[in-house]
Amino acid sequence: MFTPSRIKHCRVCGTEVAWRVPPGDNRDRAVCPACGEIHYENPINVVGTVPVWDESVLLCRRNIEPRYGLWTLPAGFLELGESTAEGALRETDEEAGAHIELQGLFTVLDVVRARQVHLFYRASMLDTHLAPGPETIEARLFREHEVPWDELAFRTVRMTLEHFFADRRAGAFGVHVGHVA
Ligand SMILES: [Zn+2]
Repeated sequence: MFTPSRIKHCRVCGTEVAWRVPPGDNRDRAVCPACGEIHYENPINVVGTVPVWDESVLLCRRNIEPRYGLWTLPAGFLELGESTAEGALRETDEEAGAHIELQGLFTVLDVVRARQVHLFYRASMLDTHLAPGPETIEARLFREHEVPWDELAFRTVRMTLEHFFADRRAGAFGVHVGHVA
């Protein structure tokens, strides 16, 4: 099951919503009995990168909840008006201040329970300059044997890193589609 909706009031007129199946639809939606607005809810995209420098990958230690103090790949919510690639670049800049060049899309991971889809791109770091933003305690490079596997913030980060090191050993990077159960 996914997280239940938290919609209580119409975002257009503020009236309390009713739950019903609109005509021609097939599932309950939050419908405004006053103005008729239907509040569709769909999964949110989280976009990020696997920044690579030489043998190392860049991780950020979270300065925000949830998972405060744990390590993550740079990632965050896709904003309106940007592509997934632009969002991944922006998040990497905001969280780590890293200068990167995107490579290919690497993982597409459904997190149905959290109502999210996580997409990670591989990226080459252009230099080792880092300037972590306010959401990051510290950003640093990790070789594979240094990765803090027990202190990773999210399962999609772990899955993406596992795929990354496995592909690197195999000598070829693919695109990996999966899900968090
Ligand atoms: Zn309304």
